[in-house]
Amino acid sequence: MVERIMPEPFRIKMVEPVRVPDGAQREKALEIGHCNMFGLRSEDIYIDLLTDSGTGAMSKQQWAALMRGDEAYAGADSFFALKNAVKDVLGFDYVIPTHQGRAAENVVFGTLAKKGDIIPFNMPFDTTRAHIFNVEAEPVDCVIDEAFEPEVQHPFKGNVDVAKLERAIAEYGRERIPLIMITVTNNSGGGQPVSLENLRAVSGVAKKHGIPLFLDAARMAENAWFIKMREESCRNMSLAAILRACMDTADAITCSAKKDPLVNIGGMICCRTEALYQALLPRVILFEGFATYGGLAGRDLEALAQGLREMTDEQYMAHRVAQVKYLGDLLEEGGVPFVKPTGGHAIFIDAAAFLPHIPQTAYPADVLSIEIYREGAIRGIGLGALAFAIEDEKTGKLILPKLELYRLAINRRTYTNSHMEYVAESIVNVYKRREKIRYGLKVEYAPPVKGLHHFLAHLKPYTL
Ligand SMILES: *Cc1c(COP(=O)(O)O)cnc(C)c1O
Repeated sequence: MVERIMPEPFRIKMVEPVRVPDGAQREKALEIGHCNMFGLRSEDIYIDLLTDSGTGAMSKQQWAALMRGDEAYAGADSFFALKNAVKDVLGFDYVIPTHQGRAAENVVFGTLAKKGDIIPFNMPFDTTRAHIFNVEAEPVDCVIDEAFEPEVQHPFKGNVDVAKLERAIAEYGRERIPLIMITVTNNSGGGQPVSLENLRAVSGVAKKHGIPLFLDAARMAENAWFIKMREESCRNMSLAAILRACMDTADAITCSAKKDPLVNIGGMICCRTEALYQALLPRVILFEGFATYGGLAGRDLEALAQGLREMTDEQYMAHRVAQVKYLGDLLEEGGVPFVKPTGGHAIFIDAAAFLPHIPQTAYPADVLSIEIYREGAIRGIGLGALAFAIEDEKTGKLILPKLELYRLAINRRTYTNSHMEYVAESIVNVYKRREKIRYGLKVEYAPPVKGLHHFLAHLKPYTL
């Protein structure tokens, strides 16, 4: 039995109509978009779960904050509003705004990493990985083995395996490691959290070797919520206090503010020392803008400052995580295989188990995205071989990723519980007819840039 879910802790003030396209419109949209979900138009979609990035609904306080935007080029009041919010909520003394998370990555890796360097991770997100490749460095995954077993229940599947981390440091040498980074929650591994205990353990290892610890903190508040729910010693702490304790383990963070901080555009780097702050600024000015606006308007900085304060609201977060779990429970009831336990921001369907008769080289996760769009005009995204396979430089052979996932990302404060029921029903319908899905996909075009295939690929179905 699926448990009843708590009702939405908000009421709707402004309505954005969405329409259900008919079957013919869906087929046409697939054709025009080259069967790539990134090629579809909003008007061809009923429920859009492509990403939870920048797609959330702002609160009335955030909309009001926009009006306070100070558009001064340097030293705007709005920058100081952000700086104060960062200090209050996260405890960092320095903040560099950026236009989004990948811009923060560009600044950090472009400044601190160079050719031949190694960046140990739990697992990097795809843009993070691409930025590391861009400076000819390499990420090394040190996530626990359970992360690769979709059906295995573990409360903190995003955790770093500290022994793997120690081995990586010993193998490559401290000199080749400019920083260690932990993604919270671990997006690429199913939105799975990292425990406070693990953050502290990694922080200890980093300190011992004199390596700075960075967090990729896009979903830091969801991560803190899972810690509250699952880590015994934190049960009686507030969400805000847990978040702060997590931040205290790190020297710096990069952050896409389009996720937990509840804005439609924005990102930031936060750090503790003036030395690091100053080291990063030249590249900010090259690529983003002056240090106090970093590619954002003053009004965006205000909305972000407000969003940072709202993301630790416990009623909001309790509903958000429960809504994702509700969708998971409905899918579970219909027998659909997905990564357990449900993560913070998304359901990651195990496409390899959903479509076992389609080989990974035929991109089953992306076949699934087409079929779910056909069924319900729902847009999710394949995160499997198309996104993550890499060519072995010596042999030219494809190295396939361990997981072949299809992600449904739940936008913050945007869709209702009843939308979740519609999504689950549509996907269960596809699951019932899965054996009749007998085609694969060929890549007809892909950009010649490592790590970006899935965004721009043209795909063509072929019969298996
Ligand atoms: C979205 C995301 C990024 C990149 O941020 P953008 O704002 O999309 O540029 C980096 N890391 C993680 C974990 C993310 O989820």
